[in-house]
Amino acid sequence: MSEPVPENTTQEEKPTSFSVFYSCMRCGTRVSQSELTRLPEIKCICGFRVFTKVRPPVVKTVKAY
Ligand SMILES: [Zn+2]
Repeated sequence: MSEPVPENTTQEEKPTSFSVFYSCMRCGTRVSQSELTRLPEIKCICGFRVFTKVRPPVVKTVKAY
């Protein structure tokens, strides 16, 4: 079954409402960017300091020919 895709591509990502989250590489705890900037140092509650950027679930359709 193939559903018709509505042409609703005008809603792009808005930088103003774009909330960036960071996920701890060790325990996977998510911290928002604004929360991280409030901290004296970027550090997870588990003590790990390596985070990966978590993107919001944006589904992009790529046409493959
Ligand atoms: Zn952690």
